Amino acid sequence: MRPADFQIIKETSQRLLRNKAERRRTGLYPLEMLILYITMRCNAKCDHCFCWEDLNIGIPELPLERIEKLAESTPPFRQLLLTGGEPTLRKDIVGVVRAFASRRKAETILINSNGLKPALIAQIATEIKTEFPDLGLDFQISIDGLEEMHDRIRGVPGNFQKAIETLKVVRDLGTKFRHLSAHVLTVIMELNHRELIPLNQYLQQHVGPELIHGFELVRDIKETAWGIPPEVAEKGVGPKKMNLPPRESFPQIAEDLKEIQRRAPYRASAFHIHNLAQLKMVETGQEQYKCVTAGQAVGVVYTNGDVAHCEFTLPFANLSEFDDNFDALWHSEKANARRAQIRKCYCIHGCFHGKAVEYSWKGIAEMAKSAI
Ligand code: SF4
Ligand code: SF4
Repeated sequence: MRPADFQIIKETSQRLLRNKAERRRTGLYPLEMLILYITMRCNAKCDHCFCWEDLNIGIPELPLERIEKLAESTPPFRQLLLTGGEPTLRKDIVGVVRAFASRRKAETILINSNGLKPALIAQIATEIKTEFPDLGLDFQISIDGLEEMHDRIRGVPGNFQKAIETLKVVRDLGTKFRHLSAHVLTVIMELNHRELIPLNQYLQQHVGPELIHGFELVRDIKETAWGIPPEVAEKGVGPKKMNLPPRESFPQIAEDLKEIQRRAPYRASAFHIHNLAQLKMVETGQEQYKCVTAGQAVGVVYTNGDVAHCEFTLPFANLSEFDDNFDALWHSEKANARRAQIRKCYCIHGCFHGKAVEYSWKGIAEMAKSAI
């Protein structure tokens, strides 16, 4: 096993031991990732977008002062994920990061982006890294296929080249600033499932062999979640047009993902194990890794202050009911009541199922196996 992989396995195991001890003490795993929607405005028109019905319809955005109160009231945690919509369209995005970074609440900031505005991303990255040189900052840039495929899926001509430019801009800034990176996430669907290897080859050639390339099966509550009580299931989490790839293509997709993982800078990846388990879950309808993360290690705050344990279940409260005190809300009776309702469901959602791999010894063993 390569030293980098050994280190990942060691740190993941140590974290699991610590988290289990904390859960024995408090009854809950400690918060590890907060998914914060900061805008529902978007400049793309993706066919596979799971929140397309909420885009650009004027959903109010939590003002910065309220985000500061939210940041003040969270415990320190590992990762803040800024999402939307297109989060970089929010003019005070650096202020949002500052709210958490200046209070040392988040170790790393992950920003989802369609990569349509390379110059804006360069400016955001430069401002954040100049002010917080030790903060981890990672941009997750969506690329779903080679040029023609990507632009077709995203509904924006020229998106592919802009996204590649964004990756290069962040890569180049990474030589100036520490702890700054960008990686690619590809959503696998019916239209693009044959293009995974060619896309990976293109990225390695044009952006660099060190680029991390992750994947996620297209998300649709009707087909990729099981056992959510109907009264708490989010309505309409699903794409406008895109379907899952045909089941008979799953073995080839798994082989392609393994091949790509073999070329990755590190091989011990919980997300890769999650990808293989996703395929198995959709194929068999059987749970692979228990969802112990939703409402414990991971929480979701929407633009209007609604809070949910995951993106497939309805919000259970709004921050305004708790004077924007996240900790009070997270440990409230309402939060516990919803936790009790979502004990038996399972789904393929990467933010929860991907992390669940790291919360299981079986998952860590699979990570180690794939690294050997
Ligand atoms: S998937 Fe992301 S980039 Fe595409 S329309 Fe939805 S929010 Fe916008
Ligand atoms: S993330 Fe977890 S709690 Fe939410 S629907 Fe999926 S399995 Fe259920």
